[in-house]
Amino acid sequence: MIQKKVCMIGSFGVGKTSLVARFVRSIFSEKYQTTVGVKIDKKVVEVGDKQVTLVLWDLAGEDALTTVRPSQLRGASAYVLVVDGLRRSTYDTAIDLQKRVDEAIGPVPFFCMLNKNDLRDRWEVTDSDIEALRAKGWQLLYGSALNGEGVENLFRELTTAILKVPNA
Ligand code: GDP
Ligand code: MG
Repeated sequence: MIQKKVCMIGSFGVGKTSLVARFVRSIFSEKYQTTVGVKIDKKVVEVGDKQVTLVLWDLAGEDALTTVRPSQLRGASAYVLVVDGLRRSTYDTAIDLQKRVDEAIGPVPFFCMLNKNDLRDRWEVTDSDIEALRAKGWQLLYGSALNGEGVENLFRELTTAILKVPNA
């Protein structure tokens, strides 16, 4: 059985906990519940003939803004960098966090999830912002924990990327 650790990274309120809840339990809640410490969930993903258990680490710092603790990142095979399209600040934070994660654990696959696509007409993050991420070589996906758009696909793509890493 292959088990892989995946960290959920991003500013406070971007939807990290909601994306995991949607993926693992097929639920969504409007209520904001602060994640305390680390919450760990597991789900099996099948890609081709391989079954991979994703061990999802939903991280939260006390200040919950930009903290990433190297000790919590250790051993991660991949991560999801979540941006809340409604808040430009979460975009800037994502760029900052990506650098810090890279410094902490080196280059592992990651996808940037542009979340809250159900409210696309109210986004502060612009198409040119998004183009700038693409130009950096980031892999971008749009989605919504609210209606489930893109969520299965995110974790499937991530698993595929993990399996492509030599000796993964
Ligand atoms: P976290 O701090 O990153 O774990 O963020 P949460 O998952 O707790 O979500 C923060 C708030 O955004 C909550 O009120 C959620 O209900 C809401 N939320 C999360 N994802 C979505 C989404 O895709 N669309 C909308 N409209 N709201 C969302
Ligand atoms: Mg949370």
